[in-house]
Amino acid sequence: MLEISGLHKSFGSTRVLGGVDLSVRRGGVTCVIGPSGSGKSTLLRCVNHLEKVDAGRVEVDGELIGYRESGGRLHELGDRAVARQRAQIGMVFQDFNLFGHLTVLQNLVEAPIGVLGLSRKDAEDRARDKLRRVGLAERENAYPRQLSGGQQQRIAIARALAMEPKLLLFDEPTSALDPELVGEVLAVLRDLAAAGHTMLVVTHEIGFAREAADEVVFLDGGEVLESGPPGQLLDRPREARTREFLEHVL
Ligand code: ADP
Ligand code: MG
Repeated sequence: MLEISGLHKSFGSTRVLGGVDLSVRRGGVTCVIGPSGSGKSTLLRCVNHLEKVDAGRVEVDGELIGYRESGGRLHELGDRAVARQRAQIGMVFQDFNLFGHLTVLQNLVEAPIGVLGLSRKDAEDRARDKLRRVGLAERENAYPRQLSGGQQQRIAIARALAMEPKLLLFDEPTSALDPELVGEVLAVLRDLAAAGHTMLVVTHEIGFAREAADEVVFLDGGEVLESGPPGQLLDRPREARTREFLEHVL
């Protein structure tokens, strides 16, 4: 479902990604771990073309993201075409990014109506279905500030689901939460994984990665230092750098 190859990205003279290859099979869950500054967020932002890549390709379900190919050359897509591609890629951020002036239900129907062209009735039905999914059906009229951080993040997940994307990206979805609220968000992620959603999850929650991922990727200095099934990468890493990192987060 997701195929990243040879991805390079620099900001000025700072090389942030130095040739990343990574894939997520349909229905698969890949977790990305790695030290702060290793390029994890940049990698996710390149997937939905929030950052323009310097070299390499991102394909979602066989479709090249951000560019169209003709005559062996790449031409950057216009805003509307990129928006259409992004609609198929859900993204959940560390700090929720809900619209504070809108109710929960309004947060969930905005993009399905505005981007997908759903009727209000269909968008609301869909939104309520996704709210049930994250266990917050009864809070549709609340404003984000009236909810706990864990609830806000579950709403942000429901909002991503309301677009029924092919791929879900999560950037440290529990890092901004008080420790007692992490569990409820991880429970939603586990549920989505079990239901067959294709997910790329940047996380420091090693326990979650061990249970839910079919592949774990260790990113270090903008490169995939090693990757493999969780039982191998987390318990028997090949690289000293991976071991050292795991000792710090465990
Ligand atoms: P991570 O998510 O793994 O902590 P990031 O992808 O956020 O890493 O950042 C990797 C590196 O890229 C950092 O050194 C950061 O300062 C730099 N960086 C990220 N975004 C920008 C930007 N828009 N402009 C300049 N440097 C950036
Ligand atoms: Mg980050």
